[in-house]
Amino acid sequence: MALPLIFALLYYGNRTKCPECKKLFSLKKNGVEIVGEKDIYVKVENERKNISGEIVGTQTQHIPGKRTKYRQHYICKKCGSECFSEYTSDSASLQYIS
Ligand SMILES: [Zn+2]
Repeated sequence: MALPLIFALLYYGNRTKCPECKKLFSLKKNGVEIVGEKDIYVKVENERKNISGEIVGTQTQHIPGKRTKYRQHYICKKCGSECFSEYTSDSASLQYIS
């Protein structure tokens, strides 16, 4: 039972490792900025139901959305150096109304 926790800690430790002084658990989040936005189509799966409400399949739809690129800034609590990592997040502009 303890193993997943150890993996989670290792994962977390690696993500918060300072690239300068190599100390684990030293990076503190220092704000997020949006560095890019792109119009995309997001694939959504809609459930199809029969007359008695049972799910009989799925229907794929492409709806307009946005891909946003974020830059997460970090500052090291030990040596004060700054670094960042980037990630993207997709979101649909419209909510599907069933
Ligand atoms: Zn450091």
